Amino acid sequence: MDQDETLDEGPSLGLEAPPQKSAEQYRVLARKYRPSDFTGLIGQEPLVRTLKNAFATGRIAHAFMLTGVRGVGKTTTARIVARALNCVGPGGTQTGPTIQPCGVCEPCRAIAESRHVDVQEMDAASRTGIDDIREIIEGVRYAPASARYKVYIIDEVHMLSKQAFNGLLKTLEEPPPHVKFIFATTEIRKVPVTVLSRCQRFDLRRIEPEVLIAHLRTIADKEQVPIADDALALIARAAEGSVRDALSLLDQAIAHGEGQPIAAQSVRTMLGLADHGRILDLFEALMGGHIETALRELEGLHGHGADPLQVMQDLLELTHFLTRLKVAPAAEGFFDGSSGEARRAAQLAAGLTVPALTRTWQLLLKGLLEVRDASRPLAACEMALIRLAYAADLPPTDRLVREVMESMSTRPATPAAAMPAAPSAPLVTARSRSDGRAPVLAQQTVPQAQGDAGPSLCTLEDVVALAMAKGAAVLKVHLENDVHLVTLEPGRLEFRPGPRAPRTLAQDLAQKLRDWTGQRWVVSLAREGGAPSIAEARKAKITARLERVLAEPMVRAVLDRFPGAEVIRVIDKEPLLAADGETGEEDE
Ligand SMILES: [Zn+2]
Repeated sequence: MDQDETLDEGPSLGLEAPPQKSAEQYRVLARKYRPSDFTGLIGQEPLVRTLKNAFATGRIAHAFMLTGVRGVGKTTTARIVARALNCVGPGGTQTGPTIQPCGVCEPCRAIAESRHVDVQEMDAASRTGIDDIREIIEGVRYAPASARYKVYIIDEVHMLSKQAFNGLLKTLEEPPPHVKFIFATTEIRKVPVTVLSRCQRFDLRRIEPEVLIAHLRTIADKEQVPIADDALALIARAAEGSVRDALSLLDQAIAHGEGQPIAAQSVRTMLGLADHGRILDLFEALMGGHIETALRELEGLHGHGADPLQVMQDLLELTHFLTRLKVAPAAEGFFDGSSGEARRAAQLAAGLTVPALTRTWQLLLKGLLEVRDASRPLAACEMALIRLAYAADLPPTDRLVREVMESMSTRPATPAAAMPAAPSAPLVTARSRSDGRAPVLAQQTVPQAQGDAGPSLCTLEDVVALAMAKGAAVLKVHLENDVHLVTLEPGRLEFRPGPRAPRTLAQDLAQKLRDWTGQRWVVSLAREGGAPSIAEARKAKITARLERVLAEPMVRAVLDRFPGAEVIRVIDKEPLLAADGETGEEDE
């Protein structure tokens, strides 16, 4: 398995990593705070309890099967178990397995650094054949070189070939007493029952949001990073129960923050979420039947990085919140109860009827499905909003709608529209969200406009748009910040990973692309080269724009006249007509 990821695991217990503000080599948080014993393994109490009992009574299984979604800590747990089995204690006096591996003895350290001869890790995703397994089967017969137990950790075990499973089975039926197997899988249903029945199975759970938030808070404090509670909540929600994803997002947020306190808004922007205040503006425009205002609002949100699908989801969430306000005026959720926006929302709710809100909900839900499946999500979003505003109280004239339609057709086309249609089959990917926020979408046929096909992935931006449309916010953040694109062509993507890229990024990306496009994708890593990341390019553009403005004689004159003055923000006079979305902060 990877060599780099464990090199610097210290002898500390639990999460006692010291803050290292100016470490020579940047260490991602997920690596720095990887738990080294069971006390640091958050959110998996049932597993820890069962293992404790097994160790205490000396009834340790021959084979463990760790299952759970990616990022919940299967590999980490496997390594902790390997340490627990082989720890000899700081003085070398520990005579048997211990539930509290010391972390400082030679076996503990060697396992953490993936260099213990008796603890072998194998990724079944890349080594699926019988020959790979035969190697293990041969080795099993010999006693361990120095450890108490020979431990074989096989990740993504469901990927093994049938032949390989059969080979393994014989060993599992009569394992020598000095051998332990630890299997990990994301797809337990693909593991043969014959293998499963010979393992002690542990289901690693997604981490509950409250637990994850508390964990993030602990780490932020250790890192001396000021970050708002609601910013952490947003990160925890986007991570969907994965500690690794949560820490990786926290890493990004810290990098974006550039030493400033991190507010919810900057995390929202990073995740492609819309500002809730502006969602309220949009909703008000829609309910008032002001189509043009609504479309301008949408364009503004989109220009600030909000994703059309997310806008629809936020509008749905707001509708739900407003409806709840009607029946229970003290309801909280979308807005903090004491904020000015909460008061505005309460006023808005008072002016709307429950039937109107219900109708809005239904129209938005329909629109959400259309946006999700459209090859041009922004256009689909506009259409949905037009329909909604048209259905609202103020009856807009046919002429108004026609004008809006005409203005849409003259607007610059989105990248997706400018691309040739892909040869791949239309996508039918339905995905239910686990966080309970968005409505669960059932499998359905894709409404296809004429000439539409599946997503064309010509640029990295297209891949980002697809990730957002599929609700993969974490992947979106990595694509924008950690990917230096070398090549992108159908079925193949090569990139140089940035310093904060999670080790599984290429693998995750290949998997997702295959799920989304129905085609096989080879995603490979380059050591050097590659384009600037999307985030870098965006930043460079803003800097260049600022420099252009600073070079203006008028601006120079003003700056000369007022010593100490600086240009904080560049605002376009006609921000909403700007085609590149780089419209500055026209609100405020
Ligand atoms: Zn030890």
